[in-house]
Amino acid sequence: MDCALRWGWVPRIVAAMREDTRRWIEKDKRHCWHPFTRQGEWCAEGHEPLVITGGDGVWLMDSEGRRYFDGNSSIWTNVHGHGRREIGEAVREQLERVSHVSFLGQTHPAAIELAGRLCGFFPRGTLDRVFFSDNGSTAVECALKMSLQYRQQTGEGERCGFVSFANGYHGDTLGAASLGGVGRFFDRFRGAGYPVRFVRDLLELRGLGREESGGVSAVVVEPLVQGVNGMRLWPAGMLAELRAWCDAEGVHLILDEVMTGFGRTGTMFACEREGVVPDFLCLAKGLTGGTLPLAATLTREGIYEAFLGGAERAFYYGHSYTAHPAGCAAALASLDLFEGGRLLERVVERAGQMAEGLVRIAGHGLVREVRQCGLIAGIELCGPGGEAFPPESRVGERFCFGARRHGLLTRPILDTVVLMPPLCVSGEELDFSLDAVWKTLEEGILEG
Ligand SMILES: *Cc1c(COP(=O)(O)O)cnc(C)c1O
Repeated sequence: MDCALRWGWVPRIVAAMREDTRRWIEKDKRHCWHPFTRQGEWCAEGHEPLVITGGDGVWLMDSEGRRYFDGNSSIWTNVHGHGRREIGEAVREQLERVSHVSFLGQTHPAAIELAGRLCGFFPRGTLDRVFFSDNGSTAVECALKMSLQYRQQTGEGERCGFVSFANGYHGDTLGAASLGGVGRFFDRFRGAGYPVRFVRDLLELRGLGREESGGVSAVVVEPLVQGVNGMRLWPAGMLAELRAWCDAEGVHLILDEVMTGFGRTGTMFACEREGVVPDFLCLAKGLTGGTLPLAATLTREGIYEAFLGGAERAFYYGHSYTAHPAGCAAALASLDLFEGGRLLERVVERAGQMAEGLVRIAGHGLVREVRQCGLIAGIELCGPGGEAFPPESRVGERFCFGARRHGLLTRPILDTVVLMPPLCVSGEELDFSLDAVWKTLEEGILEG
């Protein structure tokens, strides 16, 4: 092709992309309502949200041809990178065979296979049952309801409350939200959900009297690291000690591994790190490699058995898309990629590299603290004198906006910047993202 002709096209392509983008944004502002979003600001004249139209590995492409490192793993879901061929093919094949099977009354091979594979991660005789649902919140809802109904059916009806940790996050549906300890999200709905006793830590938990612990059905916790709480790590050994407390008190342990599951912390599941098997394990985000909505609640055979017998003992819970075949096919393909590729070993290597890169960042004058667990990092910003910023200055948001210019796309939690790449990230790509954080810090984006 004639070079002059080709170059003559470029401005026209750019103009067309610009025009498409403008139209999409205009329509979005007219009809869409975004999660956790101040819609007034979103719809304001000058606000131009990114319209993402493509993805490839750790990269996302916007509607105007710009490329960004996905430093947030698409809200903590993505495992193998965007556009992974193996997952796409598995989903397409499944959709061609059958695109929906009601798990209420029927069953299908992909779900059967997946349930077996999930249980296979745990010692036989521990987590042997899988209940599918659609997202992290529903995975938690199921665990809560199962725990309560189990109590009712085993003569322990007095155990009708839950214990949850301050600043924890377990999803947004009403039941799951009532276990949430993040005041700015949940306080307005307090009183509408389950009875919950919040504790800060194990010390406070151990301080509960027999009378109070005797009314507890289950404790819910995010193992190793509280995600929405700015990636705050629990002290080493906490999980094993919590398991011991639950055993001593006859309380169920519900592990919310919605974020930590599927390799993010360096082991397949965070609970492996402390040799803990919970009574309920909640999985979602990374279950399908971060491609389709699917969730699973795993539990023990002993708990399941309390639901056998008369009709009134059944677990009356489910969703129209429970165990969706395409989601199950994606999950199976994702698990194959874990097995085929030494992925977890590479995560541990990359996490080591990340730790080295974070040392420099932690030393920056505008960084108060850096927290890391596997390939999950939280970089907490502060003023030059180490002071916290007033919330209304929204420094975390401004930082992430500035980082875009360096090709990094991520989201903050208040003033903590999350760096949580897809697990497939290469050494070079990881350095790119750490560099982008550094450059943004150096720009002094935080002043003014
Ligand atoms: C994201 C998340 C949830 C909620 O999952 P959704 O799929 O968004 O409903 C629950 N618990 C934890 C720890 C999470 O990170």
